[in-house]
Amino acid sequence: MPSIFTKIIEGEIPCYKIAEDDDFFAFLDINPNAKGHTLCVPKKEVDRLLDLDEQTYMGLMAFSRKVGLAIEATIPCKRVGMTVIGLEVPHVHVHLIPLNTMANATFQNKVSLAKEEFEEVAEAIRAKIQ
Ligand code: AMP
Repeated sequence: MPSIFTKIIEGEIPCYKIAEDDDFFAFLDINPNAKGHTLCVPKKEVDRLLDLDEQTYMGLMAFSRKVGLAIEATIPCKRVGMTVIGLEVPHVHVHLIPLNTMANATFQNKVSLAKEEFEEVAEAIRAKIQ
């Protein structure tokens, strides 16, 4: 059965899309640690980061860098943090999280955003993608 992220990539489940190329897809996390929290996903469905072939791994990092720079240019924050966990969704994803305090990195404190706020932040980040 396809993962929830494959369904998002294929347009079967809606998302707040940030970027896409032939191999990777980025969208806002629906339960964000901070405004602008974004997930970068390889289209190839693999569960664990270290099981990715080297080319896909390196490509995911390059794609995440591009998206992270756009987040940094959009969201006031001290820096953009990168985390890979994957205990909830078994399809590799890089979390890019605008950080102001350690609490933003802990996945314990969540922010609640209205649909319009998700749309607004997605559009603002998209506009900064180089
Ligand atoms: P983890 O697998 O522990 O790295 O966490 C999975 C992440 O995916 C969590 O931060 C969820 O909020 C996020 N997530 C789960 N379903 C969706 C969805 N439909 N759209 C956007 N983000 C999602």
